[in-house]
Amino acid sequence: MYINGEWVKTQREFRVTNPATGEAIGMVSDGDKSQAILAINAAHTAFSSWSTASAYMRAEVLQRAYDLMIERKPMLADLMTREQGKPLKAALNEVQYAADFLRWFSEEAKRVYGETIPSARADQRFIVRYQPLGVVAAITPWNYPISMITRKVAPALAAGCTIVLKPAEATPLCAIAVFNILHEAGVPAGVANLVTTSEPVPIGDEFCTNIKIKKLTFTGSTAVGKKLAQDAAPQLKRVSMELGGHAPFIVFDDADPLHAAKGASLVKFLNTGQACISPNRIFVQRAILDSFVQTFTERVVKMKAGNGLDPSVSIGPLVNSAAVEKVSCQVEDALKKGAILHSGGKALSGDAYASGNFYAPTVLSNVSEDMLIYREETFGPVAAIIPFDAYDDVIEMANNTHYGLAAYVYTQNLSRAVRAFEALNFGIIGINDINPTSAAAPFGGMNESGLGREGAREGLGEYLETKLGGFSV
Ligand code: NAD
Repeated sequence: MYINGEWVKTQREFRVTNPATGEAIGMVSDGDKSQAILAINAAHTAFSSWSTASAYMRAEVLQRAYDLMIERKPMLADLMTREQGKPLKAALNEVQYAADFLRWFSEEAKRVYGETIPSARADQRFIVRYQPLGVVAAITPWNYPISMITRKVAPALAAGCTIVLKPAEATPLCAIAVFNILHEAGVPAGVANLVTTSEPVPIGDEFCTNIKIKKLTFTGSTAVGKKLAQDAAPQLKRVSMELGGHAPFIVFDDADPLHAAKGASLVKFLNTGQACISPNRIFVQRAILDSFVQTFTERVVKMKAGNGLDPSVSIGPLVNSAAVEKVSCQVEDALKKGAILHSGGKALSGDAYASGNFYAPTVLSNVSEDMLIYREETFGPVAAIIPFDAYDDVIEMANNTHYGLAAYVYTQNLSRAVRAFEALNFGIIGINDINPTSAAAPFGGMNESGLGREGAREGLGEYLETKLGGFSV
């Protein structure tokens, strides 16, 4: 753990395993409430000097962290593949995405401008300034184990906040590697603190109830996000919630079916389907359904599952055996209720897969509303294809979910694209585009997919308080 600028070890440790092989790859300090309190106290003490340091100084530290992360990209990607399982190429992309937040917010740190507002009174002046909120508590998931950290740490530090972060228990080694970088980049003692643990609940409780914490930022499941938001409510702490998704991927009959099938297969199986923006329901207009399913399936059957360190592998393992069970259960339920299986449909066994958590990339068509996969976030390598007839029907079906994170639309008709962009109740919409994400763009969900945005100017605003000065002159 990294507390008040020093690496701290506890006697009790927990094991980190490679999800592709089941091998132990490290032992990590198993922190508890007492270390969380030490870290919060350190962040609280550091706040007065960090929040008043010049934005130029804070920017330089973040820029150095960016340079170090880029220098260490191959090492970080290798670690991520061994700890989280994603193929090495995807891990390299994630490290770049993670580093982008450090650079973008190092630039943005210098642009926290205030405002002057004309008053109705000639003898009055209004001045608005934006100032850092204070100590931030952050909780991050395992599926994007480096970028989900920098997406919080970079804007918090740029704004002048200090932070205590608890990473997911499956991926603490990636978090340690990020904090090594922050340390070497010159982040002062107490400004950024890391508490690793195998038991998140007591640390989460401390984050929600400690009066010194002014903001909680969480990325993870909707169920845990709701619980944390409730626990933080008695003190009215600011919260940002990046939660689950159930993305619709809509292919209209005027789309190029090859382009759409290629896009859908790439984004569906990204990170083995373990992405919050992964399409969960692929709606295809009936006229092009057969050609879409055929092209899509042809691409999927070529995907090789295995250890992400093998360059020919594009499907890594799932995070644990419970994830394999959840996916199996959704597929069995769909098949029982009339879905058609085009490929996959089973957990992978045999020598290469014996000690890992693998599920074959799977394509189902004829998926309908009564199936679990139509409602629940899958978080696995299963594509569920649903036919539709009319524009109004598909918009209604797509919006019929309590989630609202990402949606995708494929069409060559400009007015249909604009209308769908406006009508879909999702925070991020890709139009003929499977990657509508960037450090410069606001990322976040509507409805039960979350509160607040990360990245972009909005991402910095999440760590700032608005202060109004009314001056009688
Ligand atoms: P999770 O909610 O189980 O865990 C996320 C984090 O919360 C982990 O660090 C975990 O240790 C911690 N946690 C779990 N229970 C806790 C508790 N009671 N108190 C405090 N902390 C607790 O989610 P997960 O399975 O790790 O991640 C997958 C989920 O994250 C999916 O639903 C996915 O859609 C979502 N996600 C969302 C985004 C986004 O930006 N919207 C990005 C990535 C992942």
